[in-house]
Amino acid sequence: MALRDKSVRQLGGVGDKRAKAYEKLGIHTVEDLLRYYPRAYEDWSRTVRAAEAPAGEPCCIRGWALAAPTEHRVRQGMTLYRFRVSDGRDIITVTLFNNRFAAAKVHADDELLLFGTVIPSGRHYEMTSPLIEPASTGQRIRPLYRQTEGLTARMIENNVRQALALVNAATLPDPLPPTLLEKQQLCDLSTALHSIHFPTNELALEAARERLIFEELTVLQVGLMRLKGRSRGDNTVRIRRDHTAAFTAALPFTLTGAQNRAIADCLQDMAGDRPMSRLVQGDVGSGKTAVAAGVAYSVIREGWQAAMMAPTEILAEQHASTLSRLLGEEVRVGLLTGSLSVPKRRQIRQALEAGELDLVVGTHALLTDAVRFARLGLVITDEQHRFGVHQRACLAAKGNNPHMLVMSATPIPRTLALILYGDLDVSVLDELPPGRLPVETYAISSAKRERAYGYVRRHLDEGRQGFIVCPLVEEGEEPSDLNAATTLFEQLAAGPFAGYRLGLLHGRMKTAEKEETMAAFARGEIQLLIATTVIEVGVDVPNAVIMVVENAERFGLAQLHQLRGRVGRGKHRSTCILISDSTGEENRRRLTAMCSTNDGFKIADEDLKLRGPGDFFGDRQHGLPQLRIADLLGDMPLLNRAQMAAAHLLSVDPDLQAEENAPLRQAVEHLFDRVGEQGLN
Ligand code: ADP
Ligand code: MG
Repeated sequence: MALRDKSVRQLGGVGDKRAKAYEKLGIHTVEDLLRYYPRAYEDWSRTVRAAEAPAGEPCCIRGWALAAPTEHRVRQGMTLYRFRVSDGRDIITVTLFNNRFAAAKVHADDELLLFGTVIPSGRHYEMTSPLIEPASTGQRIRPLYRQTEGLTARMIENNVRQALALVNAATLPDPLPPTLLEKQQLCDLSTALHSIHFPTNELALEAARERLIFEELTVLQVGLMRLKGRSRGDNTVRIRRDHTAAFTAALPFTLTGAQNRAIADCLQDMAGDRPMSRLVQGDVGSGKTAVAAGVAYSVIREGWQAAMMAPTEILAEQHASTLSRLLGEEVRVGLLTGSLSVPKRRQIRQALEAGELDLVVGTHALLTDAVRFARLGLVITDEQHRFGVHQRACLAAKGNNPHMLVMSATPIPRTLALILYGDLDVSVLDELPPGRLPVETYAISSAKRERAYGYVRRHLDEGRQGFIVCPLVEEGEEPSDLNAATTLFEQLAAGPFAGYRLGLLHGRMKTAEKEETMAAFARGEIQLLIATTVIEVGVDVPNAVIMVVENAERFGLAQLHQLRGRVGRGKHRSTCILISDSTGEENRRRLTAMCSTNDGFKIADEDLKLRGPGDFFGDRQHGLPQLRIADLLGDMPLLNRAQMAAAHLLSVDPDLQAEENAPLRQAVEHLFDRVGEQGLN
């Protein structure tokens, strides 16, 4: 039986309880378990003497028990076991807590391996609760696994051993065909799996890692390239005429060169043999919405419908009103979000299905089955990094191969863009609308808060608007945090901003309230908006020129950049004031970066340096499948190799029909199935 279909319950010792614990780690099948690679290793293969032990770090000591452990009852429920060990030169006193089981296995004169931290104590040494093995079991490198309740590293280790005994070419076919292994000089899957769990030495471990990373990246690349291939089936929504001139004529501004180029790229795509699949990437404020409008305009004029999906209701609402303004009166625009009343939603759905709406803007609510289109020709997703690859595909499936346009402000290094958006063509908006002044950014301590407020009041008096942002109101946080925005709002209304028109916006408010508040802010009725990060994404009010961020240390760098993007969107000079009393090194670097540049790419680089790649990708914001072993930044050279290998494989066998490619095809399907699950979570 294929190990991909064999449940872990069929391994020894795995009952209901352990199977549940495995499930928590995402392990259902024997293959899942084999692919659950150790997060680290205990190196029992190299032993040191106590005197050479690294300070504060675990190591392995080889020695002889001088006597059997003695028992010391310290108090009710606490028993210590002590014995002394000689490493041939020094004496180490070993203490075990309540561990009668381990103590019973130690006898006088036994030769032992002890794994743990050695602490000097006078002329001797001490070890507390080390792992103990008889030296006869042999010195080796042992795996350490990320654990969960009810599942120890040792249980996992034992089950992995059993699983490995089941591996052969029939039960676990190698996704990498033999010819590829040979060309890349990599070991086969069975060898790699044995070595990744139980390496005999560091070289074997390195070889296993290289092979498994290469495999993972190749499967990923093949999958992404095939997605691209698939979306490029026949173009059933051919847009033969370019209506951009009519669109721009009615615009309240002139498009930038970059915007014009992006729209032209799209029209060229849509006139071609294959449906469009394009990413428009541009920093905050670069004008992506107008590009989307321009592209949608031609599609709609040719008689098709367009759908635009945004990550939050506030943003969807804002896009609906912006787009109906930019597209003019003849274009019928509808809004569909989860919080609309049931009859209202039904009405929108019926209009869509009857072809009585040209454009619908919405949130995830667009993805439900009940939403159908008469003639869906274009799917737009805004702030792409908030959605999974799968969700984009799900919306597209509501039409017959519609064109796809995705927009993202998340600046990521170029090479990575290629991988992450491997299934897309890319247009970059590398030019801001004219007259934009960089947002001046200052970091101050809370001692200067009153002065900052004075500065804000001056702007409000001149007719401008502003934001005061405080950290997120989040489930499970302290009640004091929960009320942060509300409390601040009350304080400001009673004190420094008495007499001004203030508004409050946070994630816990009802949608209708949120919408009303945003609309009032957009109309200028609210002068100063006290908000949490719900305004982070996309909100666009050009008259807002000043932002104060409270507790700036609580925000990530990318997030601060997104927040700051809410000001500096019009012709007035804008200011962002970051308040923080934290003196930590990392915080200082973050604030310095914010004050010294407005360039999203520079910020992203700095962010990457500060947070490390693990964290950058760990948040699953890119909609990619979670990788088990590869690190997209650290393994760049392997990634390039995998990319070339994938391209070669597909050029020879585009549909992976060859028998030797069948396991690869299955691995690709399996990987992207998992994205599906995650994407809908
Ligand atoms: P983002 O790329 O962050 O989504 P938006 O599409 O929200 O940016 O645009 C930011 C602001 O710039 C909006 O107020 C929009 O009306 C304005 N804008 C967009 N393009 C131009 C342009 N070519 N000239 C002047 N203003 C523009
Ligand atoms: Mg936007």
